[in-house]
Amino acid sequence: METPTYRYNLDLLRQTIDVAIEESSRYGYNLHYAIKANSNPKILETIAQRNLGADCVSGNEIKAALEAGFLANTIVFAGVGKTNNEIELAIDARIKCIHIESFEELLVVNQIAANKKHIMPIAFRLNPNLDAGTHKYITTGVSQNKFGLSTNELTEAIRVLPTLSAVELIGFHFHIGSQILNISKFADLAAYASKFYSGYKHLQLNYLNVGGGLGIDYENPILNPIPNFAEYFEAFANNLTIDNHIEVHFEPGRSIVGQCGELVTRVLYIKEGNERSFAVVDAGMNNLIRPALYQAKHSIYCESSSNEYTEVYDVVGPICESSDTFGSAIPLPKLMRGDLLAIRSAGAYGESMSSRYNLRSITPCLFTLKQEQLVM
Ligand SMILES: *Cc1c(COP(=O)(O)O)cnc(C)c1O
Repeated sequence: METPTYRYNLDLLRQTIDVAIEESSRYGYNLHYAIKANSNPKILETIAQRNLGADCVSGNEIKAALEAGFLANTIVFAGVGKTNNEIELAIDARIKCIHIESFEELLVVNQIAANKKHIMPIAFRLNPNLDAGTHKYITTGVSQNKFGLSTNELTEAIRVLPTLSAVELIGFHFHIGSQILNISKFADLAAYASKFYSGYKHLQLNYLNVGGGLGIDYENPILNPIPNFAEYFEAFANNLTIDNHIEVHFEPGRSIVGQCGELVTRVLYIKEGNERSFAVVDAGMNNLIRPALYQAKHSIYCESSSNEYTEVYDVVGPICESSDTFGSAIPLPKLMRGDLLAIRSAGAYGESMSSRYNLRSITPCLFTLKQEQLVM
């Protein structure tokens, strides 16, 4: 087996989607998979086949979504820095909604839509100022960060809206962060959105988008391969008090794909340091950047040995950066050069964030159904 390689279990992916659909459809909720979590074409096709919508943050993601079979009228588009080309693409493709993140963007979208003689459905992205309690790089809903319209911009946007003939405001969009395991944060968001909507009854909104952010269990992926979607959607159902005719939309990314992928890597060298032992592996932060970028911890196991986990190693990559470490003091069996390790829970923000730093090769991937059953 070539290494490093992303290995995806499509059975687990399908089961996860099925649970997400089952639990959300109880309340008539709509799901848009956040493409940026993993945009591998086969993963996208698998998700599109289950009829989820797509949440995109670039023009190329919109193209990838359409190519994978997502329907245009289920695609939503967010991002603070949409270019003219990307806005044109979104309008030409007739996607469902553009999420507007600044006052200036509102004027640009209106202008481009007017040129194309189309009335573009839009939602304003807002910052509920709720601290999701996650790593600061993945907290998006507090007022210091760059996402969404500020209160002043919102007032101004609503004031000029009647003069903008090529956009139609359908609702608001919130996204408070990622890897959120404290379900009460979502209850808070639902309560916040409900209160907010009650102040805008006169706008006749029919759309509410509450973003993504549900976390996965990185510590015990074997015990919890599928996130607790039941509890998640119930938190919204119990706390949303908006009118029944308003459609509720979600943008799950990590919770759909996080657990179905592993990064398989080979031990190149065992190196005895002065204080600890290093397992130098052939995967680096260019293949999986989460540990280096967010101090994220991933469970790691050895698949080439069935011996007891009697040793501890720092599992490090080959890249010329000290942050190129997958974990410190990881319990593992006694390793040898050539052993295969797998880094679990790498399906989200793994392959999609990989790069060619140090001119390393593009990370290949393979697909399995059950463990070891390969699909080409
Ligand atoms: C990244 C992102 C998501 C997905 O977040 P997850 O934590 O992966 O569920 C959803 N909506 C928006 C706007 C995003 O930027």
